[in-house]
Amino acid sequence: MLALAGRPLGISCEFLAEEPTLTCEDLGKLTLFSKDRETSVIEFAERVDVITFESENIDPLLLRGVPSHKIAPALKALATARDRLNEKEICKKLGIQTAPYFSVSTPSELIDGINEVGFPCILKTRTMGYDGKGQWRLNSFEDAHAASQALDWLSMRYILEGVVPFQREVSIIGVRDRNGMTETYRLTENKHKAGILRKSQVRIEDEQQGPAEEIFAKIAGELAYVGVLAIELFESDSKLIANEIAPRVHNSGHWTIEGATTSQFENHLRAICGMPLGSCASRGASTMLNIIGNPLDQDYVLGLRGAHLHDYRKSPRPGRKLGHVTVLDIDTEDYASTIESIEQRIIDV
Ligand code: ATP
Ligand code: MG
Repeated sequence: MLALAGRPLGISCEFLAEEPTLTCEDLGKLTLFSKDRETSVIEFAERVDVITFESENIDPLLLRGVPSHKIAPALKALATARDRLNEKEICKKLGIQTAPYFSVSTPSELIDGINEVGFPCILKTRTMGYDGKGQWRLNSFEDAHAASQALDWLSMRYILEGVVPFQREVSIIGVRDRNGMTETYRLTENKHKAGILRKSQVRIEDEQQGPAEEIFAKIAGELAYVGVLAIELFESDSKLIANEIAPRVHNSGHWTIEGATTSQFENHLRAICGMPLGSCASRGASTMLNIIGNPLDQDYVLGLRGAHLHDYRKSPRPGRKLGHVTVLDIDTEDYASTIESIEQRIIDV
């Protein structure tokens, strides 16, 4: 989606990936990592003007041979946002509320952590988690004991978080350019099931827009951020509590392709390439639904007026995001029923 957004601006993309993928096959040269991963990155960097990433599950050490002016956002942002403990600590420093947390590296620290944050709590790997992977919900010491036996205490570090009794989950996505100018999109309300994002909805008015923008400005400024940044938040008793910082374009911002003046993908490219930012204004209310595990009947979706289908050309696998559909209020006669009929067709596994 980044590469597609680059085409009209004359920006061409190359990809460095772990394994062959159909998703970007026709969009630019695809290079696979060789055994010497650091050299792969250095050779790649020599061919391009700027490197960015679409996942935070990357070890910043892998990029240490690349001149810093060729990486955006900077490695400091990657190092902060890829580690849940660092995310929490930066929020604490900036006076942004988070779930209660405790750093856990040994079985006895897990017990200390439970005594500190109480049940129910969630044990998470500090790095490499996504779509709810690497998480264990603990309701009792029996759960903690069972989790403890299954964990990789030698090579992984963990964080224990108290469960936040939230009323809703939202995310604020914005972009910051090389001169420190920022723009933010409308707040998105997100619904998850089994730790995976299912649905994101943009409302035109939201009382939490202002408070969320303040959190965005603090974090983006602190990280001297360049590019699109997403912050996942819980709303609990009308207060915003930070959950995760994503140093990249974000699934809950996919609606911006059709639903905003400038998509998050285009704005990310503009920022990292030193171009002026585009407006983040939204074109009214819109809803994005993820297609997970099972493909959705293409003809059915395309037969619905105003539904925009995005197929990532990924092979189906339980829990895998295969594509998404966006519906804009201004594009359809009956916004609510169009969303509902797509939701009924999505059989997620
Ligand atoms: P992502 O796909 O967003 O990267 P992730 O696997 O990194 O997900 P989180 O965002 O930490 O994981 O958790 C996934 C979901 O689990 C959250 O969106 C939320 O619904 C729930 N969750 C996680 N942590 C907490 C918490 N401390 N309190 C309440 N719910 C939580
Ligand atoms: Mg998350």
